Amino acid sequence: MSSDADRSSPASQDSSPVVDGRGRRIRLPSGDGSADGQLSRVDALPDDAEFALCLTHDVDRPYKGIRSLYYATQERPRYHLRTALSSSNPYWQFGELMQLEDELGVRSAFYFLDEQHLLADRPVSEWVSPSNWVQHLGRYDITSNEISAVIQALDAGGWEVGLHGSYHSPTDRDRLRDEKRELEAVLGESVTGGRQHHLRLSVPETWHHHREIGLEYDASLGSTTECGFHGCYQPLRPFDDGFVVFPLTIMDQALPDPGTSFEAARRVCERLLTEAAANDAVMTVLWHPRYFNEQEFPGHRTLYRWLLERAQELGAWIGSPGAFREAVDIDGADDTQPTETQSAGNSVDGTSPTAPRANVRDRP
Ligand SMILES: [Zn+2]
Repeated sequence: MSSDADRSSPASQDSSPVVDGRGRRIRLPSGDGSADGQLSRVDALPDDAEFALCLTHDVDRPYKGIRSLYYATQERPRYHLRTALSSSNPYWQFGELMQLEDELGVRSAFYFLDEQHLLADRPVSEWVSPSNWVQHLGRYDITSNEISAVIQALDAGGWEVGLHGSYHSPTDRDRLRDEKRELEAVLGESVTGGRQHHLRLSVPETWHHHREIGLEYDASLGSTTECGFHGCYQPLRPFDDGFVVFPLTIMDQALPDPGTSFEAARRVCERLLTEAAANDAVMTVLWHPRYFNEQEFPGHRTLYRWLLERAQELGAWIGSPGAFREAVDIDGADDTQPTETQSAGNSVDGTSPTAPRANVRDRP
């Protein structure tokens, strides 16, 4: 598809089911001609590519550390205890991942998490929940020397650095704004997009917050358990302006385990790449950096490299969502930055006259 083609079009098919991160089906309104029922999409592809492959990495747990003690009680105790006590850190895969992508001449996006501290920032009532402790034991500090060095090295090398909105942030605009500012202080420049932790998303409220704090895209829409396009081959423009939503096609953990059945996982990737090429799609994939440790997550590194090489064979444009957005020069990307006051008229549920009326429904 040519890049000077019409860059957006209202959804003209039946309303398209899209699955959110909690396995619920979001039905976006079909284009029925009514002013508030339109949902535009990004139809353009960069450089006459057959399709686009957007690469993303959520930086959840760069340190295995004390988390190993938790896993030790679950499985393979001897191995996990050894790694907990060792000075080596199997989850630190930044260098390996950068080298792999560099060898293939591609760049991706890394989304960094600025979580609240359980004891310092969260209500006492949450301290007693074991799941909250597991969440918070692996917390990292983006201002630490090690992490800020990684952020700057990624940026200097041409990778995109974005925001991984924390667990409690999807409905908390102030929290999202603070996290964005903190990350930008480390990065030394603006971030343009990212993804919510655990794909936690309140549609369309979270996208309103993203847009109002100056983000230009979100990549949280998708499933943690099912790979696929879920009826959505193109990025969405929920507000019909420069703000873009990239639906997630593959999350590493949703694939068949490539360590036990590499061929099954490869076949899923091949099927989705072929489907992407046949539909001029924008396919977005997420591999967590720790999955590149071959000892702990065998097969993933090899599969990721195969996916990229196969996409190149099939004529894909490959890059980060931010780079995609720039490459297709989305209409209105730079002149529709909203102001905080423009959202003042929104109704209580976060909808506005220009937002899609997405209904979130339980699956049958
Ligand atoms: Zn995450």
